[in-house]
Amino acid sequence: MMAHEDCIFCKIIDGDIPSAKVYEDEKVYAFLDISQVTKGHTLVIPKEHTKNIYETSPETARELFSRIPVIANAIRDVYQPLGINLLNNNEAAAEQSVFHLHVHLIPRYGDGDGYYPNWTTHTEDYSSEDLQSVAKAISEQIKQ
Ligand code: 5GP
Ligand code: ZN
Repeated sequence: MMAHEDCIFCKIIDGDIPSAKVYEDEKVYAFLDISQVTKGHTLVIPKEHTKNIYETSPETARELFSRIPVIANAIRDVYQPLGINLLNNNEAAAEQSVFHLHVHLIPRYGDGDGYYPNWTTHTEDYSSEDLQSVAKAISEQIKQ
C-alpha cells in the first residue's frame, strides 16, 4: 500500500503512530478519534491514501462504506447510543484538517452530548423551479 509521506493517517495504518484500533482488514482501518466528541467517536479510513471525497474512486468508496454499518452496529451494541451521525469533511473550508479521507462515526447520547451540527436552512430562497434548475446543472455534470 502506498503510504503518503507526512500523512498522519497513513502512519497510523502502518503502526508508526499508535492508535486505538477498532477494526482492520485488507482495505479499511478504523480507530478512535483522539479528540472524542462523544464516547466511541470513531474514524473509518481507506488504507489507500486518498485526499478526500473528490479524489476517491467508486471502488474505494464502496469498500470504505461497506464496513461502516457493522462498525456502527458494534458501537451501538456496546454503548447503546440513541443514534449516530456520519460526518465527512472535505477541504479546509469544510473543516477537513487531516487530508486522508475519513468518515467520522459519532454516537449520539441526547441533548448536550457534545455534538452540535449547526446549520441554517434557506428553504424560502428556492422555488421549485430553482431546485429543478440546480438539480439539472449538477446532473448534467455527472460523469460516470
Ligand atoms: P477532520 O477535521 O479532518 O474531519 O477530522 C480529523 C480528525 O482526526 C480530528 O477529529 C482529530 O481529532 C483527529 N486526529 C488528528 N490527529 C490524530 C491522531 O494522531 N490520532 C487520532 N486518533 N486522531 C487524530
Ligand atoms: Zn494517508
